[in-house]
Amino acid sequence: MTYRGRFAPSPTGPLHFGSLISAVASYLQAKTKSGIWLVRIEDIDPPREVPGSSDSILRTLEQHHLFWDEEICYQSQHSDRYLIALSSLHQQSKLFQCKCSRKTVMGNQQRAGISIYPGTCREKGFSETGHTSTRVIVETQTISFNDKIQGNYQQQLAEQVGDFVLRRADGLFAYQLAVVVDDAFQQITEVVRGCDLLDNTPRQILLQRYLGFNTPTYAHHPVATNAKGEKLSKQTYARPADETPPMQNLVKVLDFLGQNPPPESEFSSLSELWEWATTHWDINKIPRQSGIPVT
Ligand code: GLU
Repeated sequence: MTYRGRFAPSPTGPLHFGSLISAVASYLQAKTKSGIWLVRIEDIDPPREVPGSSDSILRTLEQHHLFWDEEICYQSQHSDRYLIALSSLHQQSKLFQCKCSRKTVMGNQQRAGISIYPGTCREKGFSETGHTSTRVIVETQTISFNDKIQGNYQQQLAEQVGDFVLRRADGLFAYQLAVVVDDAFQQITEVVRGCDLLDNTPRQILLQRYLGFNTPTYAHHPVATNAKGEKLSKQTYARPADETPPMQNLVKVLDFLGQNPPPESEFSSLSELWEWATTHWDINKIPRQSGIPVT
């Protein structure tokens, strides 16, 4: 089976160092396995979108010589797929509509940033009417998987997360639904992404099981943090990657990923750098940490 990997940025701002790590790691995993590397723009949340950022992300990838192999998938164009998945879950009686506000749910206990849904509306069933969110029923079971970087990971979904949202009250599809549908649709065999999404993975595996999709392998690399340990993001004022020469960024990313690259001065071109990177790439050298501060 051909290896198929992907990089799936949300267009919420320019590509920064933190996302470049996911792009490079997923690209090198695919290329060193003679695989296909895809880019998917996760533009399903218009209120969070920054106009022009999809194009700017793609331009920055190209500047770094990160060239994708097939047509880009824009999630905003695939509502039909998400509706089909919802209808399949509905037929299996796995959905219900929930009137609880975010505030009500958040008011309940909160663990590691995840609010645990207490099942308030579970018995109300499913009807097409009203401005309600759609949640999927989580059965009492432990979901575990072997992450290629972080090792064994398991979650008791019912206790640690609860029934989760697949479609919001405003009609927008949730990340968990779209990511599972598109990973299956694009026949992704391995997902390489940041450790901030490690605790989302059991939810995605549960949906794959409900929908009869294959589960890809997963590899969650450490995320870049600031000195306070906060993940680099637009909120923590991460600088856009295109403000720094691509060569410098890439050497820094390879170093971050534990690959021990030679100094930038050893490379006379980006092609030479990529040649070195694909020859020396070893996923086992990536530190088994959830976050690493960068300066
Ligand atoms: N779109 C998500 C993000 O930018 C990544 C999704 C994924 O890789 O599964 O954080």
